[in-house]
Amino acid sequence: MSSTSLVRERPAGAAAVQVTALLQHAEENRLAGDYRAGSAIARQAATLAAAAGDLAGEAEALRSLANQLLRLGEQENAANACREAVAVLETVGDEAALCQVLTLQAMPLNELGMHEEALDVLARGREIAQRLGDRDLLYWVHNRTGVVHGSMGNRSLSTEYLMRALTIVDGMDAEARFCILNNVGDNAVYQVAQLRSDGHPDAADETLQTALGLVDEALRLARDAANPFRESICLDNYGMLLALDGDFAEAGRMIEDSRAIAAIHGYRSLESAALQHQAHVRLMRGECAAAIDGLLEALDRALEAGEKPMAMEIHRELSEAYEQVGNFAAALGHYRSFHTLEREAHNDVAAARARMAVHHFELDNARLEANNLRLEAELHRVRSAELEADSLSWQRQASEDALTGLPNRRYVELRLPELAATGPLCVAVADVDLFKGVNDRFGHFVGDEVLRQIAALLRDNVRDNDLVARFGGEEFLIALGGVDTEDARARCEVLRAQVAAYPWDCLQEGLAVTISIGLAIVGEGGDLPAGLTLADQRLYAAKNKGRNRVEADA
Ligand code: GH3
Ligand code: MG
Ligand code: MG
Repeated sequence: MSSTSLVRERPAGAAAVQVTALLQHAEENRLAGDYRAGSAIARQAATLAAAAGDLAGEAEALRSLANQLLRLGEQENAANACREAVAVLETVGDEAALCQVLTLQAMPLNELGMHEEALDVLARGREIAQRLGDRDLLYWVHNRTGVVHGSMGNRSLSTEYLMRALTIVDGMDAEARFCILNNVGDNAVYQVAQLRSDGHPDAADETLQTALGLVDEALRLARDAANPFRESICLDNYGMLLALDGDFAEAGRMIEDSRAIAAIHGYRSLESAALQHQAHVRLMRGECAAAIDGLLEALDRALEAGEKPMAMEIHRELSEAYEQVGNFAAALGHYRSFHTLEREAHNDVAAARARMAVHHFELDNARLEANNLRLEAELHRVRSAELEADSLSWQRQASEDALTGLPNRRYVELRLPELAATGPLCVAVADVDLFKGVNDRFGHFVGDEVLRQIAALLRDNVRDNDLVARFGGEEFLIALGGVDTEDARARCEVLRAQVAAYPWDCLQEGLAVTISIGLAIVGEGGDLPAGLTLADQRLYAAKNKGRNRVEADA
């Protein structure tokens, strides 16, 4: 898989920096073929990124992990890591990265014998690559589709896809080119044998020579990249092609080199494959006894490593080898084992499928659960904020007059005793003059507007510590602290004058509004209800005396 970074947007912060460093370290190991170390670091990066909520980082770490598990022969874990990365990328909505992971996911699925699933994820990848018009992505999809068809035994279709991939990208990077060349070489090993047994020696020879050229270039690329995995897999292919070309000595050397490199680096399946191929070359040379010994050793290894497809192939080869030396009983035994393993392989695929389905189910559940917790926490946060706002709003509503925004009577009843306790207090009641007539002449709507405007005039013309409230209907209460009667009268006079002077006919032609005010002084700790009653009586007096006046004595 291309080494270009999946990461587009990553959160800043200490965790992200650490994830980035780990990812880089994991990639360095991957490029050097140290998949054991690389996968451990990638796993660490994935865990850290997940904890930090760094989804892009998590996806990239999972991809690196899958890539390396795949090389270590841990196909099921690799497929699961891919599946996890897919889930993360679906959340992030990064389609290009999703396509890359789907393309990678096809590999372990293919190795597990889940060819249909592999072709499914590739179909999804192809759809994305085509929609995005991304040639690099399309290249990888074609490449991997070719590989899967090869595994399904359809070598010519496989080569067709691989060659199509080769023509898509011009300045392809070395890793991408290596994969194609090597895979075409691998196909050729089977195709040449097939063409020969079908009686097409010329076509077989042409395919062989082309493949030798391609694999030679692939080997150079692997060595330039100093990647032992690629070198090992390529040497094995090269050896098999040379054997088909009749150069058994060189073939033997190459396959032995492949095996040695695989052994050093712990590439189990490559090592088993090399052992099997060494035996295969001996068989081609007619060295049946040595070939049988080699195949038996390879069989042990393959069974030990749980490499059933390989063990199957070795049984089949052993059956043929024993037949050649005339040991029909042994030939039959291995033939039967071949069939038993074939059946088992079938069951294994079904079991892997089931296990992976459970894993996916648990994974999806865990993600759903995490998402639910996150949503619930968010909901809780929003609800608390709403509740708080609600309760503030209720408090306000309970003490505020909706029409004018002034404090209401309830508030006044609570607040006035407090004010009266601090010192002498003027309580004044203001009432709109002939307000019924305003409503009757101009309508209730204009009446409301008048009340709002009066409220604003009163509030704007008292001191900050004074209180103006709507007492009910078209009546307002004004409480002025620290004033004597004359001071209070003067202040109320200002209020009356402000209302009288307001340009009411701007609101409605012909409109004129005045107020009358009655006031009383309540001494410190004095009788508030008595004061309010007195103020009310004086208001009544003001009305009687012709309205639009302040009454403080009567
Ligand atoms: P006076 O000068 O004697 O106070 O005459 P008035 O017409 O103001 O007397 P009255 O107290 O009989 O009428 C008050 C009117 O105020 C009656 C009612 O319809 C009106 N009113 C009370 N509350 C509201 C209100 O919230 N909006 C409007 N538009 N009118 C209201
Ligand atoms: Mg009234
Ligand atoms: Mg009135």
